[in-house]
Amino acid sequence: MSNAMTGGPRRIAGDGAVVARAPAKVNVHLRVGPLRPDGFHELSTVYLAVSLFDTVTARPGEGIALTVRGEGSAAGQGPASVPTDRRNLVWQAAELLARHAGVAADAHLDVDKSIPAAAGLAGGSADAAATLVALDALWGTRATRGDLAGLAAQLGSDVPFSLMGGVALGTGRGEQLSPVLARRRCDWVLGIAGEGLSTPTVYGELDAMRTDGTAAPHAEGAGDAAEPVIAALRSGPTSALAATLTNDLQAPAVRLRPELRRALQAAAEAGARAAVVSGSGPTVAALAEDEDAAVRLAASLAGAGVFRTVRAVHGPVPGARLVG
Ligand code: ATP
Repeated sequence: MSNAMTGGPRRIAGDGAVVARAPAKVNVHLRVGPLRPDGFHELSTVYLAVSLFDTVTARPGEGIALTVRGEGSAAGQGPASVPTDRRNLVWQAAELLARHAGVAADAHLDVDKSIPAAAGLAGGSADAAATLVALDALWGTRATRGDLAGLAAQLGSDVPFSLMGGVALGTGRGEQLSPVLARRRCDWVLGIAGEGLSTPTVYGELDAMRTDGTAAPHAEGAGDAAEPVIAALRSGPTSALAATLTNDLQAPAVRLRPELRRALQAAAEAGARAAVVSGSGPTVAALAEDEDAAVRLAASLAGAGVFRTVRAVHGPVPGARLVG
């Protein structure tokens, strides 16, 4: 299948620019299994793509040039933590696709970030997925969806989901995806509590807590435990989804960042149906009954003084796509 992500002819503007966007994710279920010999943990997770998007614009150019604006950039909101060199996943995605396709890695890439960095929302993964889609179109590499998914998995555990979007069960280190047909809308408020948390540090803290007995050992057969949350995402009601939210990384994230406890409490007091730390944090994902309730909840949490950024979002939304 050629240009699988475009669903049509290449959309290239007058100045040759191609624009793609990709969504943030929330882990509505995250069970962490044992540490593997390769240093990753075995996961069982249910990903939900939500309506907070980063945009990548790719233009013809010589060599790779990269600019970043918005969340996590030097001039943007929050601490500047997004690199603009080879360490950026966008850069790595461009080089990987060029190598795969046997073309020169020539592109000017502008990343416009709305997804806070290092927040457990897979912002870097979204940018990498959007870059693959944009450059596939710019370079005419005609990669299949399968090709792009394979490249995505090489870039990071969450990148295949950023490409796929919607709802999916993730196993392995999160990169092995089974799509879940769940179109029922759910509304959330994302509250980012303080500065970014490093994902490896949070996993390390969980390992330490399991060793010293302050966290329960990993659950055997954790894959099965995803069924109730998948059923709730498919058919509701919101109370069923609220009852099934779970994240093994919440306890270590709270231990590293004690103010997260206050943030979770603030969400409950403001009327969230449930609240959970997303991924490795420090984002709190607060579930609302519907869109109106989410808008009210966002207003109330913005005034609570515990979050640096608050956003009302909904899911599921599609993965990385070209925008017209
Ligand atoms: P995870 O996917 O592990 O949940 P996260 O969502 O918590 O990660 P990201 O926003 O992806 O966090 O950023 C994690 C780190 O990756 C950042 O601190 C930054 O150093 C690096 N990084 C590389 N490329 C990017 C990018 N395009 N956007 C944001 N961070 C990036």
